[in-house]
Amino acid sequence: MGPGPGNPYPEVAQAFARPMLGHLDPAFVALLDETCERLRTVFRTTNPLTLPISGTGSAGMEAAFVNVVEPGSPVVVGVNGVFGQRMCDVAARCGAEVVPVEVPWGQPVPAARLLEAHPSPAVIAVVHAETSTGVRTDVEELARDKGDALLLVDCVTSLGGIPFEADAWGVDIAYSGTQKCLGVPPGLAPLTVSERARERIVPVPRSWYLDLNMIGRYTGPATGTRTYHHTAPISMVAALHAGLGAVLDEGLEASWARHEACGEQLRTGLQALGFELFAAPGHRLPQLTTVWLPEGLDDATTRATLLERYGIEVGGGLGEFAGRVWRVGCMGHTARPRNVVSLLGALAEVLGR
Ligand SMILES: *Cc1c(COP(=O)(O)O)cnc(C)c1O
Repeated sequence: MGPGPGNPYPEVAQAFARPMLGHLDPAFVALLDETCERLRTVFRTTNPLTLPISGTGSAGMEAAFVNVVEPGSPVVVGVNGVFGQRMCDVAARCGAEVVPVEVPWGQPVPAARLLEAHPSPAVIAVVHAETSTGVRTDVEELARDKGDALLLVDCVTSLGGIPFEADAWGVDIAYSGTQKCLGVPPGLAPLTVSERARERIVPVPRSWYLDLNMIGRYTGPATGTRTYHHTAPISMVAALHAGLGAVLDEGLEASWARHEACGEQLRTGLQALGFELFAAPGHRLPQLTTVWLPEGLDDATTRATLLERYGIEVGGGLGEFAGRVWRVGCMGHTARPRNVVSLLGALAEVLGR
């Protein structure tokens, strides 16, 4: 949900208003170290190489692939929506031999299909929470049975919103974004790399900016000495630090429970208004509810009305589902019962119920 009666974390807004620090100022270095530590807590990992990549979630995706994929590396990618497709594109640009495993949009990607797609993949990649369809793909089984492959997981829309356990599950590389369930403006991509994956970072990745061999010495695990690589986006790091602080003050489990409760309330309310759920049962994301539009409801005008008259932004369907499906985000600081109630009330009014 967009602007409307949101409840942004005041700490995040205050972080942007703080006096600017230099990027090698010891005070900034301490803030960065603490941010990385908070990221370890939300990723549920002890990985030393855990840091915010400068750039949005897609920069995290690119960093994840470009550091471990060499030309010709077989890379299996689960594709059940836009972000799986983007992974294929990124992996291909790294020179990978991409093996896409396509399933219909709205369905999760079965672990067995990914595991049997190639005899010896270098990487198996999957999107944990597919934002284009509202579907969760489980990664535990994949992590357990991946063999020698690295398991690379997109948790842009899952981190902070639903359980994600990097270490307990055995995820090798995971990246996220600040603006989804962490409730911080867009601009950084939290990334975590297991020791197993770290040993396989290629010596000269095909990106200078995202080369973890260099970034790791700057924004990575504290080594005592930090060498300049690129100027960190100071204000964004401060905002992420504050946003993670708010999430951890609430408690990660409490944040998951809040998202779950709002998702449930939203699913029930939307069905009562005549919308049918789109995503596969048992794999529906509470933070992103997808619904088929009822017969006769005009997509564009209804969404425009919701935004203009009620200050509520609802996402349209993507790809072949444009105009037929809605994607209702209820994530981060916007996952509050009052926001669900105001959307349902607004819809009831618009639909004349
Ligand atoms: C939003 C999103 C991305 C891309 O993040 P940007 O911040 O838009 O670059 C990648 N994967 C998933 C699942 C997303 O929801």
